[in-house]
Amino acid sequence: MNRKLIAGNWKMNGLRADLQTVGDVAAAVSGAAAAPETLLCVPATLLSQAALAAEGSALRIGGQTCHSQQKGAFTGDISAPMLKEAGAAYVIVGHSERRTFHGETDEIVAAQAQSAIGSGLVPIVCVGETPEERSSGQTLTVVAEQLKGSLAGLEPATAFVLAYEPLWAIGTGKVATTAQIAEVHDFVRQFLIGRFGEPGQSVRILYGGSLNPGNAVEILPVSNVDGGLIGGASLKAADFLAIYNTACALQG
Ligand code: PEP
Repeated sequence: MNRKLIAGNWKMNGLRADLQTVGDVAAAVSGAAAAPETLLCVPATLLSQAALAAEGSALRIGGQTCHSQQKGAFTGDISAPMLKEAGAAYVIVGHSERRTFHGETDEIVAAQAQSAIGSGLVPIVCVGETPEERSSGQTLTVVAEQLKGSLAGLEPATAFVLAYEPLWAIGTGKVATTAQIAEVHDFVRQFLIGRFGEPGQSVRILYGGSLNPGNAVEILPVSNVDGGLIGGASLKAADFLAIYNTACALQG
């Protein structure tokens, strides 16, 4: 069984006052090998302060995207080395909101993942289908295509995390059923083993999409679910920690 990862994605939420949440989570999580790993992906403006607030604890801090280049004339963008220097250990790449609102393609996501790895960050590569793709029976085809493109060029031994996030479940309160989650996660696992061999077993596959303290108890034990990527419910320490505690109970 892989060590679970409970990861929060604050999206474009968080001002300095919200660093209290980082401190509260940091104070409550354990670094024991038997406990799940925890991560909060905060806005870039809060990264270094969040890293300070989490210092000395088991809580890791991450970014929400990075540019595919390490530096250059890309106004407004942030590179992987910048995130790393600010205190990030992880970075989300290919989140559906980046794919939809910023036109990030599988090719771009693959380049971002490579740049993250090259800078010592662990990328969390997101994939997932739209509601139309699900209702027309295209889910596995679409996910396979995204996996193929977004993981292009990755070596078997590199550390990365995969997140399955059906678009229709993100921020909607509509959660995938445990059968739907198991089907896709088992499929992703087989893809990873086919692509990377044995190391594909230890790539963690997170579920994301309206995960909350109420449904975590059903979702986290599902086959090949190695944790969660949590948006809304990561903004309050109590909610995030309730999901973490559910994962602790499963891990132990
Ligand atoms: C996300 O942003 O990755 C996400 C899953 O959001 P939410 O938990 O709010 O659906």
